[in-house]
Amino acid sequence: MVWPQHELLTQLRGIGIAPQGVRHVVISHAHLDHTGNLRHFRNAKVWMQQSEYDFAFTGPLHPAVVRGDLNDPDLDWSLIDGDHEIMPGLVLMSTAGHTPGHQSALISLPQTGRALIVGDVGDWMANFEHEILPGEASDDVAALESIRKINRIRRDQDALMFVCHDPDLIQKQKLAPDFYT
Ligand SMILES: [Zn+2]
Repeated sequence: MVWPQHELLTQLRGIGIAPQGVRHVVISHAHLDHTGNLRHFRNAKVWMQQSEYDFAFTGPLHPAVVRGDLNDPDLDWSLIDGDHEIMPGLVLMSTAGHTPGHQSALISLPQTGRALIVGDVGDWMANFEHEILPGEASDDVAALESIRKINRIRRDQDALMFVCHDPDLIQKQKLAPDFYT
Protein backbone atom coordinates (compact mmCIF):
# COMPACT_ATOMS: atom_id res chain seq x y z
CA MET A 1 0.00 0.00 0.00
CA VAL A 2 1.25 3.51 -0.82
CA TRP A 3 0.80 6.35 1.65
CA PRO A 4 1.77 9.52 -0.27
CA GLN A 5 1.55 11.65 2.86
CA HIS A 6 4.30 9.52 4.43
CA GLU A 7 6.78 10.00 1.61
CA LEU A 8 10.00 11.80 2.46
CA LEU A 9 9.68 14.71 0.04
CA THR A 10 6.11 15.35 1.23
CA GLN A 11 7.29 15.32 4.82
CA LEU A 12 10.18 17.70 4.05
CA ARG A 13 7.85 20.04 2.17
CA GLY A 14 5.63 20.11 5.25
CA ILE A 15 8.49 21.61 7.28
CA GLY A 16 9.65 23.94 4.51
CA ILE A 17 12.88 22.14 3.58
CA ALA A 18 13.96 21.41 0.00
CA PRO A 19 16.18 18.33 -0.45
CA GLN A 20 18.79 20.35 -2.33
CA GLY A 21 19.23 22.48 0.80
CA VAL A 22 20.08 19.49 3.01
CA ARG A 23 23.82 19.39 3.82
CA HIS A 24 24.08 16.16 5.84
CA VAL A 25 22.29 12.81 5.55
CA VAL A 26 22.92 9.98 8.02
CA ILE A 27 22.25 6.45 6.81
CA SER A 28 21.81 3.98 9.68
CA HIS A 29 22.33 0.96 7.43
CA ALA A 30 22.06 -0.23 3.85
CA HIS A 31 18.66 -1.95 3.93
CA LEU A 32 16.34 -0.63 1.25
CA ASP A 33 13.76 0.91 3.59
CA HIS A 34 16.54 3.23 4.87
CA THR A 35 18.17 4.18 1.55
CA GLY A 36 15.40 4.61 -1.04
CA ASN A 37 15.40 8.42 -1.14
CA LEU A 38 19.14 9.06 -1.20
CA ARG A 39 19.03 10.18 -4.84
CA HIS A 40 17.26 13.39 -3.80
CA PHE A 41 20.19 14.64 -1.72
CA ARG A 42 22.72 15.92 -4.25
CA ASN A 43 24.29 18.58 -2.05
CA ALA A 44 24.67 16.55 1.12
CA LYS A 45 27.47 14.64 2.73
CA VAL A 46 26.15 11.10 3.23
CA TRP A 47 27.40 9.55 6.48
CA MET A 48 27.73 5.81 6.83
CA GLN A 49 30.08 3.39 8.54
CA GLN A 50 32.84 2.11 6.25
CA SER A 51 31.98 -1.46 7.26
CA GLU A 52 28.36 -0.95 6.14
CA TYR A 53 29.50 0.43 2.81
CA ASP A 54 31.72 -2.63 2.38
CA PHE A 55 28.82 -4.92 3.34
CA ALA A 56 26.62 -3.25 0.71
CA PHE A 57 29.10 -3.49 -2.13
CA THR A 58 31.19 -6.59 -1.55
CA GLY A 59 30.22 -10.21 -1.46
CA PRO A 60 26.85 -11.66 -2.36
CA LEU A 61 24.02 -9.17 -2.67
CA HIS A 62 21.81 -9.17 0.44
CA PRO A 63 18.11 -9.36 -0.57
CA ALA A 64 17.31 -6.18 1.41
CA VAL A 65 20.08 -4.11 -0.21
CA VAL A 66 19.40 -2.20 -3.43
CA ARG A 67 22.83 -1.28 -4.74
CA GLY A 68 21.23 1.12 -7.22
CA ASP A 69 20.18 3.33 -4.26
CA LEU A 70 23.82 3.58 -3.16
CA ASN A 71 26.10 3.53 -6.18
CA ASP A 72 24.95 6.84 -7.63
CA PRO A 73 28.18 8.67 -8.67
CA ASP A 74 26.73 12.00 -7.51
CA LEU A 75 26.53 10.90 -3.87
CA ASP A 76 29.17 12.49 -1.62
CA TRP A 77 30.05 9.75 0.86
CA SER A 78 31.63 10.40 4.26
CA LEU A 79 32.59 6.98 5.55
CA ILE A 80 33.55 6.64 9.21
CA ASP A 81 34.81 3.91 11.47
CA GLY A 82 33.28 3.69 14.95
CA ASP A 83 31.92 6.51 17.12
CA HIS A 84 32.40 10.09 15.89
CA GLU A 85 31.01 13.51 16.73
CA ILE A 86 30.44 14.73 13.16
CA MET A 87 29.29 18.18 14.32
CA PRO A 88 28.56 19.76 17.69
CA GLY A 89 25.61 17.91 19.20
CA LEU A 90 25.53 15.01 16.73
CA VAL A 91 27.43 11.82 17.54
CA LEU A 92 27.26 8.80 15.23
CA MET A 93 27.88 5.51 17.01
CA SER A 94 28.66 2.06 15.75
CA THR A 95 25.77 -0.26 16.65
CA ALA A 96 26.63 -3.27 14.50
CA GLY A 97 24.70 -6.51 14.58
CA HIS A 98 21.47 -6.00 12.66
CA THR A 99 23.87 -5.42 9.76
CA PRO A 100 27.70 -5.45 9.86
CA GLY A 101 28.06 -1.65 9.97
CA HIS A 102 24.81 -0.39 11.43
CA GLN A 103 25.08 3.00 13.19
CA SER A 104 22.86 5.08 15.47
CA ALA A 105 22.73 8.81 16.19
CA LEU A 106 22.89 10.59 19.54
CA ILE A 107 21.61 14.14 19.23
CA SER A 108 21.78 16.92 21.84
CA LEU A 109 18.87 19.33 21.65
CA PRO A 110 18.66 22.54 23.72
CA GLN A 111 15.17 21.92 25.14
CA THR A 112 14.56 18.20 24.72
CA GLY A 113 18.00 17.06 25.85
CA ARG A 114 19.43 13.86 24.36
CA ALA A 115 17.67 11.94 21.60
CA LEU A 116 18.70 8.53 20.27
CA ILE A 117 17.78 7.52 16.73
CA VAL A 118 18.52 3.83 16.75
CA GLY A 119 17.61 2.68 13.24
CA ASP A 120 17.03 -1.07 13.38
CA VAL A 121 19.19 -1.92 16.41
CA GLY A 122 15.84 -3.17 17.73
CA ASP A 123 12.55 -3.29 15.87
CA TRP A 124 10.40 -2.24 18.84
CA MET A 125 10.99 -0.75 22.31
CA ALA A 126 10.44 -4.27 23.65
CA ASN A 127 13.76 -5.28 22.06
CA PHE A 128 15.48 -2.78 24.38
CA GLU A 129 13.31 -3.32 27.45
CA HIS A 130 13.82 -7.10 27.38
CA GLU A 131 17.14 -7.26 25.47
CA ILE A 132 15.64 -9.27 22.61
CA LEU A 133 17.46 -9.61 19.29
CA PRO A 134 15.99 -7.80 16.28
CA GLY A 135 14.08 -9.85 13.69
CA GLU A 136 17.19 -10.02 11.55
CA ALA A 137 20.79 -9.96 12.70
CA SER A 138 23.99 -10.52 10.75
CA ASP A 139 25.75 -11.18 14.08
CA ASP A 140 23.69 -12.12 17.16
CA VAL A 141 26.45 -11.35 19.68
CA ALA A 142 27.14 -7.90 18.22
CA ALA A 143 23.40 -7.19 17.94
CA LEU A 144 22.86 -7.89 21.63
CA GLU A 145 25.91 -5.79 22.55
CA SER A 146 24.46 -2.91 20.54
CA ILE A 147 21.09 -3.19 22.29
CA ARG A 148 22.96 -3.01 25.62
CA LYS A 149 25.08 -0.08 24.40
CA ILE A 150 21.92 1.85 23.49
CA ASN A 151 20.34 0.95 26.84
CA ARG A 152 23.42 2.25 28.71
CA ILE A 153 23.39 5.55 26.85
CA ARG A 154 19.64 5.87 27.19
CA ARG A 155 19.88 5.35 30.95
CA ASP A 156 23.02 7.45 31.55
CA GLN A 157 21.86 10.39 29.42
CA ASP A 158 18.10 10.07 29.97
CA ALA A 159 17.74 10.01 26.18
CA LEU A 160 14.50 10.01 24.25
CA MET A 161 14.29 6.95 21.99
CA PHE A 162 13.29 6.90 18.33
CA VAL A 163 12.81 3.31 17.18
CA CYS A 164 12.11 3.16 13.46
CA HIS A 165 9.61 0.29 13.30
CA ASP A 166 7.69 0.53 16.61
CA PRO A 167 3.99 1.09 15.82
CA ASP A 168 3.09 2.07 19.41
CA LEU A 169 6.00 4.43 20.06
CA ILE A 170 5.22 6.51 16.98
CA GLN A 171 1.73 7.23 18.37
CA LYS A 172 3.33 8.99 21.34
CA GLN A 173 5.90 11.09 19.49
CA LYS A 174 5.78 14.40 17.69
CA LEU A 175 5.43 14.04 13.94
CA ALA A 176 6.15 16.59 11.21
CA PRO A 177 5.30 19.40 10.88
CA ASP A 178 5.67 19.36 14.67
CA PHE A 179 9.26 18.99 15.89
CA TYR A 180 11.57 18.67 18.86
CA THR A 181 13.68 21.64 19.95
ZN1 LIG B 1 17.16 -3.11 8.52
